[in-house]
Amino acid sequence: MSNTSATSPPVSTTPARSRRSIFFATLAIIIFLVPLIPGIPVYWITLLDNIGLAALVAIGLILLTGVGGMTSFGQATFCGFAAYTTAVLCAYHGMSPWLSLFIAVAITMLAAVVLGIITVPLSGHFLPLGTLAWGIAIFYLFGKLDFLGRNDGITPVPPLSIGGFQFFDSRSIFYVIWVFVIIAVFMTCNLLDSRTGRAIRALRGASSAAESFGVDTTRTKLIVFVYAALLAAISGWLYAHMQRAVNPTPFGVGASIEYLFMAVAGGAGHPAAAIFGAAFVTLLKEILTRLLPFLFGGQAHYEEVVFGIVLVLILQKSRMGLWPLVERLLPQPADPVIDRHVPALSQRPRPEAGRKILDLQMVRKQFQGLVAVNDVSFSIKAGEIAGLIGPNGAGKSTTFNLVTGTLPLTSGEIRYLDERIDGLSPRQIAARGIGRTFQHVKVLADMSVLDNVALGAHLRGSAGVVSASLRLDRKEEAQLFAEAARQIERVGLGEHMHKQAGSLALGQLRILEIARALCLDPALLLLDEPAAGLRHFEKQQLSTLLRQLRSEGMTVLLVEHDMGFVMNLTDHIVVLDFGTRIAEGTPAEVSKHPAVIQAYLGADA
Ligand code: ADP
Ligand code: MG
Repeated sequence: MSNTSATSPPVSTTPARSRRSIFFATLAIIIFLVPLIPGIPVYWITLLDNIGLAALVAIGLILLTGVGGMTSFGQATFCGFAAYTTAVLCAYHGMSPWLSLFIAVAITMLAAVVLGIITVPLSGHFLPLGTLAWGIAIFYLFGKLDFLGRNDGITPVPPLSIGGFQFFDSRSIFYVIWVFVIIAVFMTCNLLDSRTGRAIRALRGASSAAESFGVDTTRTKLIVFVYAALLAAISGWLYAHMQRAVNPTPFGVGASIEYLFMAVAGGAGHPAAAIFGAAFVTLLKEILTRLLPFLFGGQAHYEEVVFGIVLVLILQKSRMGLWPLVERLLPQPADPVIDRHVPALSQRPRPEAGRKILDLQMVRKQFQGLVAVNDVSFSIKAGEIAGLIGPNGAGKSTTFNLVTGTLPLTSGEIRYLDERIDGLSPRQIAARGIGRTFQHVKVLADMSVLDNVALGAHLRGSAGVVSASLRLDRKEEAQLFAEAARQIERVGLGEHMHKQAGSLALGQLRILEIARALCLDPALLLLDEPAAGLRHFEKQQLSTLLRQLRSEGMTVLLVEHDMGFVMNLTDHIVVLDFGTRIAEGTPAEVSKHPAVIQAYLGADA
């Protein structure tokens, strides 16, 4: 747990980073050159227009579904909101399309906030079903409202124009569409690579851990939902001015499902995957519509059937979609460069040693009939390392979950520095300075060690979506990363900093969780079996680290089964058995206590 690597210069990997940027820039240039190819049929350009429009929606879905794990069958509805808004404003009221862009996007985002507040908190399959329900309802509304032209829709919608130039044909609007697509990819990449981005990536797989580090997961889900709706709105606005007409047909659930296919076929790895997914689905449909009547003859619409089969086969072959195939051609993404010279984040004051930092009074937790924690009382003093021990099932982890707000109490009171914290959310408790690790590690396997640990510093930054997507958060990010790197080195994982967390051994993941908890700048650190799976010398390193933290004024409460480790390290021990506190005192007192000996060795001892 030394600081040896802290002084080594950061390895600059800028060349790899710029090689990746060059790839994307080349891709963008190639796209922009397509309409200039001599003799290229307009039909192809129109196809590319449609691919761009669909890609915009699919980028949002990659974030929402691929990264955030929320399935929405309502994206076409958001396109419709914006398309109808701009059609009404421009066709009926003569507004400039550029001005109506802002209004259309604002109205769609407002609708997304309202629909999101209702549907986003739904868990499991209720969320997709919820989006399906309002997707269908609003689609019918589009076709029934008189002022939206019922099933005929609104026509003509004026084209986009700049100065005297009108974007009338598919060749000119091509550039508008693809500028938006490229901006959207760029901003979404920025967003994912930020404080909010880490919170978004934690939604799937580590949301309870994220809550314990101050992430408001419900709000984060809503942010992603509204962001995806924003991209769909831009697509809908562009569509209305490209077609110069709107009607309900393209905004139904069928279209929403197709957008989902694009996001899934593209793959969750990168926002740019949406372009490949959109291209793939659009071209596949186009080819099938032309090829199948030729093969089978007649008027039967086999394309939907074949389309479905092809998609299922692809997902069978590659659950990650097409993106891994693209990724293979790309240079490896560069490791983030840690700037050691940024000003350190401010630290919270430590409570004076000896003061009661944590106080449990008659704390009880019942799971139906089972009393997991049975009216337990004990307190911990600031500046000590305390142990919470007891046989398996004694209620130790449940006690941790009660203190950190992960579980609600059945009865009793918990105070942290004289303030009652039972009833507070995990986020509020984290904000007060209680950091924790989990007995069953909760890390994001496909995220780097650095990103995982930086999630722990969530509450020490404040950058939101807007500054992240515009990359105005770099100074704060550098501070968060410097702090994360410092904690990673401190716990001895320096050489693994840029590896995927999933490649670490279980014992190392427990240590990673300690670094993550330290990033919160806690005054009280709760460690649930931190030494499980560690080798002897690693346990010694852990002891040294915890002693050092104590000397810096940190209070530690740990659950551990290795008695040698606990007896050597702790100042104070509380013993639980079957949810009841059976002993409390110094290690020497506790180890001689008859009830403890009996609990550990059985009645025969
Ligand atoms: P320890 O960490 O001391 O091994 P736990 O606190 O995990 O013990 O569990 C205490 C008891 O509560 C066990 O009998 C366990 O099965 C039960 N328990 C823990 N969590 C839950 C839960 N979410 N639902 C029902 N029972 C639970
Ligand atoms: Mg436990």
